[in-house]
Amino acid sequence: MPKKKHFETHAIRTQTPTTAEREHSTPLYMTSSFTFESAEHARAMFANEIEGNVYSRYSNPNTDEFIAKICTMEGAEDGVATASGMAAIFGCLGGLLKQGDHILASRSLFGSSHQILSQLLPRWGITFTYADTREPDKWESLIQPNTKLLFLETPSNPGLDLIDLKWAGELAKAHNLIYVVDNCFATPYLQTPIEFGADLVQHSATKFIDGQGRAIGGVIVGSKKYIEEIRFFTRHTGPALSPFNAWLFSKSLETLGVRMDRHCDNAEKLAVFLAGNSNVHFVKYPHHKNHPQLELARRQMKRGGGVVCFEIKGGFDKAKSFIDRIDLLSRSANLGDTRTIVTHPASTTHSKLTEAERMAVGITPGLIRIAVGLENADDILQDVEQALTS
Ligand SMILES: *Cc1c(COP(=O)(O)O)cnc(C)c1O
Repeated sequence: MPKKKHFETHAIRTQTPTTAEREHSTPLYMTSSFTFESAEHARAMFANEIEGNVYSRYSNPNTDEFIAKICTMEGAEDGVATASGMAAIFGCLGGLLKQGDHILASRSLFGSSHQILSQLLPRWGITFTYADTREPDKWESLIQPNTKLLFLETPSNPGLDLIDLKWAGELAKAHNLIYVVDNCFATPYLQTPIEFGADLVQHSATKFIDGQGRAIGGVIVGSKKYIEEIRFFTRHTGPALSPFNAWLFSKSLETLGVRMDRHCDNAEKLAVFLAGNSNVHFVKYPHHKNHPQLELARRQMKRGGGVVCFEIKGGFDKAKSFIDRIDLLSRSANLGDTRTIVTHPASTTHSKLTEAERMAVGITPGLIRIAVGLENADDILQDVEQALTS
């Protein structure tokens, strides 16, 4: 039997078969539909007797290649690619749940995930309860007879708290819950939730998967029986990923490993620098020695990832003047870009939460999130240092 290939090799060598041109790199299939050889061929395609592409809302060679790569990286059977990370989340919840169902979710979710759970799903009679990342012993008591799905994000954004994926998998199994993980922060290079029991893994491809701040997209992969239900929902509701974005993402995955290693190298250096700076109250980074869950971080994440957060001394005002003094780095709300991005969550990404809600997920007034990019680490550190001290 051939030896199992490694992550980077799959990322590069999983490829759509070449055309008659014998091109080396997968071409872009910018077409809305595909043709049939004959009336009989068309009939057989529509009857699902033979496989193939019909219409790019259903499937397209570029989207298929992107899905195939993510499936191999995450150890998943099947997947669906979507127009954004949020479309993947909504496709998952919309495709699998019905009126009367209940979701148990970790409290510190991405902002729009919070809006889907709290503002949209209740319209269709689907309810939710938040569980606190810092109080895992309470989770079991929050499961109701109608709880169908466990939805998690780890590491959390922006607090970088971790949830034990294996423990959550056992909880989901014991209560027959569909176990879904938003793995956007870690990427499959650093963390593969399916190995810890997850049924489905979701990504905003907009972040580290594209990695260059160019395109919006999403993907959800996992066990075939759930993916089929999600695919039915997304096929007919229509949030298809464009072939162009799928082509970009698939190319980007070829360098995911080397990029993530550099994101992690730079983030580690920044975390060490911040931990030693007298204007910093504390620093949070999954593989830094000060992280309260360091042992868990080492168990479930290969490295600490590309995001560092810290609490500046002096609270809200000092945090805002830090952001204003940033010179080289970018003031933006995105993450997973080649360019380092600084964000003040309390006044931007998480400003819609109440003060109490922010405190419950560790978003203090002086918290700053740095999505560390791929610039030279010395230049990143120098800009952060001048903004902290000037
Ligand atoms: C950005 C993000 C999303 C949403 O993805 P979009 O591509 O912006 O729709 C979901 N979850 C996490 C953790 C994210 O960072």
